[in-house]
Amino acid sequence: MKELVANFVQLQEFDNKLNSLKLQKGDLPVLIEHLEEELQDKQTNATELTERISKLQSDRKMFEKEIEASKAQLQKKEDKLYNVQNNKEYDAISLEIDTRKVEIDNLESRIIQTLEQEEELKQAVAANTQEIERITQQLREHREELDEINKHTQEEENRLRDQREVVAQKIDRRYLSQYERIRKAKSGLAVARITRNSCGGCYSAIPPQRIVEIREAGRLHTCEYCGRILVWVDGNGD
Ligand SMILES: [Zn+2]
Repeated sequence: MKELVANFVQLQEFDNKLNSLKLQKGDLPVLIEHLEEELQDKQTNATELTERISKLQSDRKMFEKEIEASKAQLQKKEDKLYNVQNNKEYDAISLEIDTRKVEIDNLESRIIQTLEQEEELKQAVAANTQEIERITQQLREHREELDEINKHTQEEENRLRDQREVVAQKIDRRYLSQYERIRKAKSGLAVARITRNSCGGCYSAIPPQRIVEIREAGRLHTCEYCGRILVWVDGNGD
């Protein structure tokens, strides 16, 4: 049991060092992740806008063709109007001419609509492109910052991870998962040293008799209040 306690203490020390290396990176990793997601969104946005613009352009071409056809029809009817035989025929052709004119008017307003919508979309594309440039620039800066930190810490981090692994392998799997569970729940600190007759994790007082038992390390003790593994380390008591 004394060996287990010693291994726990070592494991916690490696984790503390790894954690302080992680702290050096600050919120950079999270920031980079968010920017990458944002960039992805903007790029999807750009694709959608481009697709909508080409849809408008092809609609407009279609309307233009329809206008041409309608104008040709209109011309024919107007020519016919000169050769009408009677009033009835005149009225019928006049009605057709009016219908064609309304049709052409409608198509022309739809063309104007597509032009206006396209203009709006193009402005959206320009704004979106600016956003993409801004995010790309920020990403580049943050990645460079993180690379710079990693350059200094990566070697030490690898060394600490290897050393931690050696200690972790000495610990029974059941105890190791208990350690990990507490560490996750208690913001990184699973093993609390007893300091001034109190738990080093939550500072609750521990009865003297219990401290004696913890020092003897006959079994594993956890703090009644915070649940951390309580250990006695010589020279660190009071
Ligand atoms: Zn505690």
